[in-house]
Amino acid sequence: MTAQDTPSEAGAGVVDQSEHPPAAELIEVTKRYEGAETVIALDAVDLSIARGEFVAVVGPSGSGKSTMLNLLGLLDTPTEGTVRLDGRDVTDLSERALTDARRERIGFVFQDFHLLPTLTAVENVTLPTAFESGEYGSRATILLRRVGLGDRLTHTPDELSGGQKQRVAIARSLINEPALLLADEPTGNLDRDTGTKILEEFAQICDRGVGVVAVTHDELVTEYADRTVRLVDGRLRSGERGGDGFAT
Ligand code: ADP
Ligand code: MG
Repeated sequence: MTAQDTPSEAGAGVVDQSEHPPAAELIEVTKRYEGAETVIALDAVDLSIARGEFVAVVGPSGSGKSTMLNLLGLLDTPTEGTVRLDGRDVTDLSERALTDARRERIGFVFQDFHLLPTLTAVENVTLPTAFESGEYGSRATILLRRVGLGDRLTHTPDELSGGQKQRVAIARSLINEPALLLADEPTGNLDRDTGTKILEEFAQICDRGVGVVAVTHDELVTEYADRTVRLVDGRLRSGERGGDGFAT
């Protein structure tokens, strides 16, 4: 992959959904933890995230939000049910194949950024590709420019504000052109103005055809989301529409 190979650049704008399977699907997914007491962390959850759709997931502590994000991110496997990523059934893949699928198709953004302090912005963005061949530096530069950090390429995290660090993390999450971007409280450590800029960034990422799922307590996130789903005791309560709406 080179800097010229950025197919997602091509049709920036509305994505033709008929040409794309959903970015991710959970079909009747149950996650049980067996122990002295069995915990049903997710209970027969159905959720489909279209390409270009921004879904916010809310719910009280212990309702299954992290479990859902881990399953969508192929960091965990369901007890029952099916997980599809970009149209492909990934439920029964080996560890190795799951790792590959995750690296190729999924981006992660965390509340506390998870940047390496000794690396520059460009180096942090190329980090997910460190074990692959190819020239990613120029693509990292393009992504950092896109998120408004063209003048911070060689800064290290301690030289960046919270919002700038989160934008580096967003650029990093896009380095492999994911179908699905998963965010855990992406605005949790940011003031409202900075959070708004980050959410505008997510909206643009959606416009390029990526499905975005953000777990959040932040009302601001649900304002920007196309759809908000609520988890209660591992069950999904289906969503109200927010933002300017993805479905027409
Ligand atoms: P949330 O992120 O909404 O706070 P979680 O997905 O972390 O909720 O947890 C959902 C439920 O599953 C909780 O009751 C939690 O205690 C339980 N749980 C999560 N992970 C484990 C685990 N590894 N072993 C046992 N129970 C777990
Ligand atoms: Mg959690």
